[in-house]
Amino acid sequence: MMLTIIPIRAFKDNYIWLLVNPANLHCAIVDPGDAEPVLDFLKKQQLIPCSILITHHHYDHSGGIIDLKAIYPDIIVYGPEQESIPGVDRYVRENTPVILPDLGLSLTIFDIPGHTKGHVAYYGNKMLFCGDTLFAAGCGRLFEGTAGQMYQSLAKIRALPDETLIYCAHEYTAANLRFAAVVEPHNRDIQKRISDVVVMVKKNIPTLPSLLLLEKQTNPFLRCQIKTVIDSVQEHQGEVLTDSVSIFQSLRAWKDNF
Ligand SMILES: [Zn+2]
Repeated sequence: MMLTIIPIRAFKDNYIWLLVNPANLHCAIVDPGDAEPVLDFLKKQQLIPCSILITHHHYDHSGGIIDLKAIYPDIIVYGPEQESIPGVDRYVRENTPVILPDLGLSLTIFDIPGHTKGHVAYYGNKMLFCGDTLFAAGCGRLFEGTAGQMYQSLAKIRALPDETLIYCAHEYTAANLRFAAVVEPHNRDIQKRISDVVVMVKKNIPTLPSLLLLEKQTNPFLRCQIKTVIDSVQEHQGEVLTDSVSIFQSLRAWKDNF
């Protein structure tokens, strides 16, 4: 079944993703931090929300749950087992089967800790909803987890097929690419992507979803085993780093202060 995926903008730069089945107008909502723009859209399009998928507990991803449930009490809310989020009905963790019959969609859950300790991703139909873990050309900050956890979480995502579409939760692409271009000044894929993104941002078109293949070519956080990135990080850090997790950790710290 073909689903239509729609971004709803919220707050300054969040995307709330809607998975819509055009045949029956049922939909699932990913990370509704704010109920209002979602309610407006549902009403306008006469959509029937059947489920909410929550990636992690941060307010800009979960703050709209209660208001949406108040209006649509039949919604089933899925959320990470390791985090306490008001309004979640069904707790998920790695490999919990999630089936959304109204959308004809089966989802696989991945535990991807690092940004928060219980962060999960939802994967199905070659789409990955990964919240604040992998961003276009970047990755989430380490608020609750370790660099090692985040590195493993990103490795899990990197192992998915190249054609996977990455639906992350923020429009950070342009700023992330500015950093990527400093880490790898001679990477032509990054330069090409920057010119593409400049046009999209100017036209106010979302730069998402992104293709995992493109992330592998342009996202420094997925390239910690590549010599140009290793050299660049070591030069910035002023010391020799002997393993990929240390490279990742140093790269993340560099970006934090960029
Ligand atoms: Zn977050």
